[in-house]
Amino acid sequence: MGENQAVMLLKVVMAIAFALVLYVFLAGTLRKFHMAPPAEPDPADIKPVDYGFRCGVCGATVTMTMAPGGELPAAPRHCREDMDLVSGVEGPPALG
Ligand SMILES: [Zn+2]
Repeated sequence: MGENQAVMLLKVVMAIAFALVLYVFLAGTLRKFHMAPPAEPDPADIKPVDYGFRCGVCGATVTMTMAPGGELPAAPRHCREDMDLVSGVEGPPALG
């Protein structure tokens, strides 16, 4: 009888330990999904620009009026494709 109780106690302890390990693992996994928000852009760093982008798929055009640092930012996407820069750069617009 005493041996059975010891076995039962061991099983309970192992179950609790397993539950704790599982909890810690799941909590750590969930924490990875919580990504810190990107740093707020500095308002003083946003400069007026005038870049025109055209979607090569559907022809939609957009004008970008503000960009960080006043530099040419990465092209926005439309129709799942990068839009083509059509104005706002020195010289003729790149073909293609
Ligand atoms: Zn488009």
